[in-house]
Amino acid sequence: MAARWPELALCAFAVLVGGAACKTEERPRAAAAESVRLTPRVSSAALPASTAAQLGASDREAGFVAGKRPTRASGTAIVVAGERFDIGAPVVLWSDPGGYDAYRETPFFARDDGATAPSTSGKKRYRPGRGLWSDPASRENEPAPGEPEPTLERLRELVDQFVLHYDVCGTSRRCFEILHDKRNLSVHFLLDLDGTLYQTLDLQETAWHARQANPRSIGIEIANMGAYPPDDDEVLARTYVEDERGVRVALDANAKLATPGFVARPIRPERVRGLANGSELEMHDLTSEQYATLACLTAGLAEIFPRIELDAPRDLAGRVRDDALSDEEFAAWHGLIGHLHITDQKQDPGPAFDWEQLLARARALRALGVGPVSAPRE
Ligand SMILES: [Zn+2]
Repeated sequence: MAARWPELALCAFAVLVGGAACKTEERPRAAAAESVRLTPRVSSAALPASTAAQLGASDREAGFVAGKRPTRASGTAIVVAGERFDIGAPVVLWSDPGGYDAYRETPFFARDDGATAPSTSGKKRYRPGRGLWSDPASRENEPAPGEPEPTLERLRELVDQFVLHYDVCGTSRRCFEILHDKRNLSVHFLLDLDGTLYQTLDLQETAWHARQANPRSIGIEIANMGAYPPDDDEVLARTYVEDERGVRVALDANAKLATPGFVARPIRPERVRGLANGSELEMHDLTSEQYATLACLTAGLAEIFPRIELDAPRDLAGRVRDDALSDEEFAAWHGLIGHLHITDQKQDPGPAFDWEQLLARARALRALGVGPVSAPRE
């Protein structure tokens, strides 16, 4: 079937800043694509005041709005079971120039000497399709005999969690190098400091990022150096520096962000201290560009996968939990979830991560009808 491409897709946030439009390229971007679903046009008149307030000032500063859009992002659509869904945020697919391809069964980056590491060649870093197997930690990498095709309808029944990680690498490029080349692991999305979203696998595949959550989840690694005990701030002190405008991430020449000259600043200038699975830790928050893209993606995933509820695990007082769920709680949970909710050995996405901001913005986008609402096929 011929692919159908949007002439113009509006970003939710572009609407807020005065109707600037995100124009997508009019060329096919992935061989697997069968159809395109369009972001509906939303006029600024349709914005309820409360929703605009919820989206907040930081959205207006989002890096992909009007003129600051990352140049490497070739579209705004993610791919699910071969179909494209427009999320209204900058997306680089695994098949795009500058993308990160987790289908590759060899190391992605050339070693310094140009050789390929034999120990990691010829191995899948993911499991094709989705299926519940007896030991999800086994890294079984082939479908079971007779397993049904991973159609969109089947995925909608199986996929019910969106797992959030911070990458402790600082940039998506470095994260993919560690995951793919060094650890033989995978994750569906990488979210870079400038708000560029990299999709590395179709969401029909099982990525290896969170053990027991893998068969039922979509995973994202958010570029951030992570959380540390207050008396051990060597990494944070090295990664974040002050300039005349405040705190920024100290990027090296290998960062290779999609936005040339991008200066990454935490959305809150101060470090944030809090608990994660019983440890008191400090970290810097994400950038406003990361939250903006994450809100678009979260709203989109909730639209595509109705079992992903726009909420996170909460305690009896209604606060988002800072500890791991029991096995029973984990089995019953369907919605957003942090790695720290899955195992008490993890702390991500960490105490600075603003769950309430993300959830409020994702719900506001859903309420606006902005997201991958289906368009009729041709
Ligand atoms: Zn993690």
